[in-house]
Amino acid sequence: MTRQASNGKGDLMQDKMERPNPDGAASKSPVLLVTGASRGIGAAVAMKAAEQGWHVLINYVSNEAAAKAVAEKIRALGAVAEIVQGDTGTEEGIAAIFAAVDEKFGCLDGLVNNAGVVDQVARVDEMSRERLERMFAINVVGKIRCASEAVKRMSTRHGGKGGSIVNISSMAAVLGSAGQYVDYAAAKGAVDTFTIGLAREVAAEGVRVNAVRPGIIDTDIHASGGLPDRAKDLAPSVPMQRAGTADEVAEAVLYLLSPQASYVTGTIMNVSGGR
Ligand code: NAP
Repeated sequence: MTRQASNGKGDLMQDKMERPNPDGAASKSPVLLVTGASRGIGAAVAMKAAEQGWHVLINYVSNEAAAKAVAEKIRALGAVAEIVQGDTGTEEGIAAIFAAVDEKFGCLDGLVNNAGVVDQVARVDEMSRERLERMFAINVVGKIRCASEAVKRMSTRHGGKGGSIVNISSMAAVLGSAGQYVDYAAAKGAVDTFTIGLAREVAAEGVRVNAVRPGIIDTDIHASGGLPDRAKDLAPSVPMQRAGTADEVAEAVLYLLSPQASYVTGTIMNVSGGR
């Protein structure tokens, strides 16, 4: 291990680490967990992270084929990728994900808290308790629990070497999503507040915590809410007159993870074409 202990500024030391990888060979790459990395923004983050030298653990909940395809693309680059099934809305799922972190890599340097869902378009007066509990279990409690497990592995308070967490929020946190998904918007508001609080809590322990708020991004999430054309339909309402791409969000995430962002914590970055 040539990496020095954290300097308390949360710098990721991407080029100096030496540790065993899953093949048993020496590795100098930091380890990144991306939740919900089988598709959409998470998959784009996983790919870009691998291109920039990270070893990546790809979490998915049900689409194993998609997770395997992302891992294969990363391995084709000569980088290291593993996959792990786990529902971030449950304690069992989170336990499985972090067991994979420990067993496959033995350390953790970054977490992208990306897994998230919308539900069918509905007014608040049509929303059931079951819907709200699922929405908050995955989009809020799951993110807080994943961050908690990451802090236990990265914080100098727990013997870690520092690291970086990026929470994926949404412009919905600011806009409110009236008539579509106010529950989702409220959950993303909680993610923003959590980002600021956790960032301040662990700032002196070598862990930086930031968030990205994507705007309208062209992924499968809109179809899962019953609006497959949502990105196209809303493009004219975006000041830049188009939906964004998962790659454009991933660029912001990778910046926040990187040593170039060594003095950036508690920041929420809009990636929304001005929306
Ligand atoms: P997406 O295309 O629907 O992909 C969702 C990903 O999350 C998939 O990999 C899915 O896994 C995984 N996932 C869903 N529920 C999960 C759970 N309970 N546990 C673990 N993984 C789970 O979504 P996306 O558009 O990329 O969205 C990613 C994040 O960006 C979300 O937090 C979303 O709220 C946020 N966001 C998106 C937009 C947008 O316009 N697209 C805008 C603002 C914010 P499987 O493949 O196994 O189903």
